[in-house]
Amino acid sequence: TPLTIAIDGPSGSGKSSVSRQVAHRLGLAYLDTGAMYRAATWWCVRQGVDLADSGGVAALVAAMPLEMGLDPLDPTVHVDGTDIAEAIRDSAISTAVSAVATNLAVRAELQARQRAAIEAERTGGFSGGAGVVAEGRDITTVVAPDGDARILLTASEEARLARRARDVHGADDAAAVEATRDQVLRRDRDDSTVSQFQVAADGVVTVDSSDLDFEETIAAVLHVVAT
Ligand code: C5P
Repeated sequence: TPLTIAIDGPSGSGKSSVSRQVAHRLGLAYLDTGAMYRAATWWCVRQGVDLADSGGVAALVAAMPLEMGLDPLDPTVHVDGTDIAEAIRDSAISTAVSAVATNLAVRAELQARQRAAIEAERTGGFSGGAGVVAEGRDITTVVAPDGDARILLTASEEARLARRARDVHGADDAAAVEATRDQVLRRDRDDSTVSQFQVAADGVVTVDSSDLDFEETIAAVLHVVAT
């Protein structure tokens, strides 16, 4: 029977790399919903719409020709045929994404696409019907509240800032952490207006990765999936 694994968590929790590896080991597809909000942001900026124009943004996203590749070893993001996997990691997109992600019509549109992608993996798709690991901020609560395993991956602020600094600056010394702090904390605050992703909902299991290395975190997640 197909598996749906929902993983939520704040940025820097290690959510993406952990979700990819879990999907790979279980032969599942991988859906990065944050990449979809980033793609929507990229598309709106590209089309020149004012991000404060909620109607204009909603209309653009409703018609966005987005193509998500769900291979956990090579997740891809294309909009209108353009490969934007790298462009959506740009700090300009990280800064702007909350404005798009708080647009309720955008959320409804992307949530519907996410549910459709999850449903497709239960019968075919990349996984051939094995299922999917979907990660984001509202997967355990809104997109897949009936998932077979629902996990909130957390980490202390200190651990998240260090991880983010290594990702973005390739170092976790004091200067690199300082350079990341504002962006990470601002995004936490902006994101918390749409979803309380830092508190586990009913039936959601918290995995705190602050003191776990990558392999230990994978093991903890696989343990939740197996129980
Ligand atoms: O996970 P990532 O940091 O790439 O997500 C980018 C942004 O997309 C988040 O900061 C949040 O604003 C938004 N997001 C969301 N709901 C999700 C996933 C991401 O609002 N399920």
